[in-house]
Amino acid sequence: MNLVACESEKKAKTKTSMRQFIPYGRQWIDEEDIESVIEALRSDWLTTGPKVEEFEKSVADYVNAGYGVAVSSGTAGLHCAMHALGIGPGDEVIVPPMTFAATANCVIYTGAAPVFSDVDPETLLIDPIQAEEKITAKTKAIIGVDYAGQPCDWDELHKIAKKHNLFLVADGCHALGAKYKERKVGAIADMTVFSFHPVKHITTGEGGMIVTDKSDLAEKMRVFRNHGITTDHRQRETRGSWFYEMKFLGYNYRLSDLQCALGISQLQKLPERIARRQKIAGKYHGAFADLPWIKPLSVRKDVFHAYHLYVVRLNSKDCIMDRTSLFRELRSSGIGANVHYIPVHLHPFYTEHLGTRPGQCPVAETAYEQIISLPIYPGMTDADQGFVIDVLKGLIR
Ligand SMILES: *Cc1c(COP(=O)(O)O)cnc(C)c1O
Repeated sequence: MNLVACESEKKAKTKTSMRQFIPYGRQWIDEEDIESVIEALRSDWLTTGPKVEEFEKSVADYVNAGYGVAVSSGTAGLHCAMHALGIGPGDEVIVPPMTFAATANCVIYTGAAPVFSDVDPETLLIDPIQAEEKITAKTKAIIGVDYAGQPCDWDELHKIAKKHNLFLVADGCHALGAKYKERKVGAIADMTVFSFHPVKHITTGEGGMIVTDKSDLAEKMRVFRNHGITTDHRQRETRGSWFYEMKFLGYNYRLSDLQCALGISQLQKLPERIARRQKIAGKYHGAFADLPWIKPLSVRKDVFHAYHLYVVRLNSKDCIMDRTSLFRELRSSGIGANVHYIPVHLHPFYTEHLGTRPGQCPVAETAYEQIISLPIYPGMTDADQGFVIDVLKGLIR
């Protein structure tokens, strides 16, 4: 896999010396963002200062959630969520395989076991019917992944969670700003985790946030991100006290004021950036509408799609080129196609340590052979997109 990418990138460099490489995703930083960070650098607080609370409140307000807890990454956020729910050894958490490894890894951090439940073939979102079949006496929670930026079937997941007394966690790392039946992602599950990695909708370099309506869960996560210590440095400063207690084993998962200053500035532009992503997606839809060998993932009618990714499936029966060859050709034309994702249960760590195996999630496994993610990011120009479409059509005629 790496070899293939490496070689095609070398070729890309020679072939496309005139044209810049088009990545699959990319941050957008403007002068206001830069000014905000400089201002934070000149302030009294580089970390755990006023910008953290301001950013938490801004994101929570944006998604209509009660509380936000800023952390050092989306992965840290998922770990905090598992901790706050009291998940631990002997417990099971149901997760989809079509996601980034962190969704399942966070369950293992706590000593519990992730249980993979297959996805819907049209949307590649977790299939609620199959998820319910995976429930045992040990199941504590379901993590739904709003894959590519499209929310899961949360009404069905809620029914199941209620019936079996389970927690619902949303891995919303692809879906900041997305909506499900007019409800924002962040105001649907018990807890929702966002990532601010540079390819995501807004960035803080690295960073993440968990949002929830439950104050007790938010409080547990605040303590967990700070070593298990019940007060932070700023609170002690205000009280004029040196005393603190470490109540349980936590981590340093804090997000700095510098990063939160960047996040606050980035969040202001989120609506227009999502609109641009939707426009790009619309143009791709139109371009592929009459091509039988290329099929964008379906979008349900009741969702507002945030398009973190634009994923298409190749119908290899009608297509002269398989996915891997197409990937290589696109890369050598200077187009940063990608594949999201290798199903998590197929990674060596999982097969070797958890005994997962091919055949366990056939829908995700078949999809994995056929999917390819095309470039989509707010700074992508119409000319860039026209080039991607032309190259793609030229390759598989
Ligand atoms: C990006 C991502 C994560 C992890 O976020 P980081 O901030 O990189 O730790 C988790 N789940 C999904 C689905 C993601 O896309």
